[in-house]
Amino acid sequence: MRWDHLGDDPVAPADTALFGTDAVTTRTFDTPEFRGITFHEVRARSIVNRVPGASRMPFEWTVNPYRGCAHACVYCFARKTHSYLDLDTGLGFDSQIVVKINAPELLRGHLASRRWQGAHIAMGTNVDCYQRAEGRYRLMPGIISALSDHANPFSILTKGTLILRDLELLVRAAEVTEVGISVSVGFTDHELWRTLEPGTPSPQRRLDVVRTLGEHGIGCGVLMAPVVPFLGDRPEQLRETVRAVAEAGATSVTPLVLHLRPGAREWFTAWLRRHHPRLVGRYERMYADGAYAPTWYQRRITRQVHELAAEFGIGPGRRGAARRTPVPEGPAQPEPTQLTLL
Ligand code: SF4
Repeated sequence: MRWDHLGDDPVAPADTALFGTDAVTTRTFDTPEFRGITFHEVRARSIVNRVPGASRMPFEWTVNPYRGCAHACVYCFARKTHSYLDLDTGLGFDSQIVVKINAPELLRGHLASRRWQGAHIAMGTNVDCYQRAEGRYRLMPGIISALSDHANPFSILTKGTLILRDLELLVRAAEVTEVGISVSVGFTDHELWRTLEPGTPSPQRRLDVVRTLGEHGIGCGVLMAPVVPFLGDRPEQLRETVRAVAEAGATSVTPLVLHLRPGAREWFTAWLRRHHPRLVGRYERMYADGAYAPTWYQRRITRQVHELAAEFGIGPGRRGAARRTPVPEGPAQPEPTQLTLL
């Protein structure tokens, strides 16, 4: 494995080395939750990353305490980043988790630096910071406390219900700085969830997170991602998802159509062959030009979700609306797809 040439950018490795090659401790835990997962504990050299092409993103700086994600979403665009470590982008991404154990102290030091101007920091933009590993390593309480102590604005995008463990810290942070939380729920279809996002809490439990955060005064948006062509895009499916999102009290809903970059594309296609072989040809045509679905398709989904959001009353006027919706890093989607209905 290579630990000396690593960045969080899903598109290309960073130039700077983040970890010392002698700083890796490998652990496994024999509990049902972590069976089959290997943790690589590292002491990172830096923790605040600048987003490549930041002008196209709603944020410029990110913090990612983990690499790899046992939530194991088949389509996860971050899979490719595992190849920079000579780790497998398929099962290896799901089960070989890099943990930057010194993330909280590094961040605290960074925020205290006179050069740091207090810019917004986005988390959960590469891999999920509330993935299962966080239950054991508990890095996020230290990270949120550091941000809170410096009144530094931040946002979190997650599929993890574990975020509610840190509810009190988030409430306290929201009293002193801008806090934006978004939960990712692309669909509510149970069968699709079981096979496509096998390590995640169910969509219903994620929406409970949205509801609970709202009840505690933290407005929470939903990143409706991914909308999966031919499997999760029927009008009644979109309607059911937006209805459930509205019922949970989300402050916004932002649709994002499935994109399939290298790393994710091969893994997703293998999944498609196993579960929906009749769709392989349609997907090849849909993604013939690269990682993104055609613009006409993205526009159609955005319009449908926009109309449903208006129908169900998601939009301006909700108390504590999330000010920003963090979206995954990487090349921006065509404009209409990133509509935030605030
Ligand atoms: S939760 Fe997010 S980071 Fe984790 S596997 Fe799923 S898409 Fe990737």
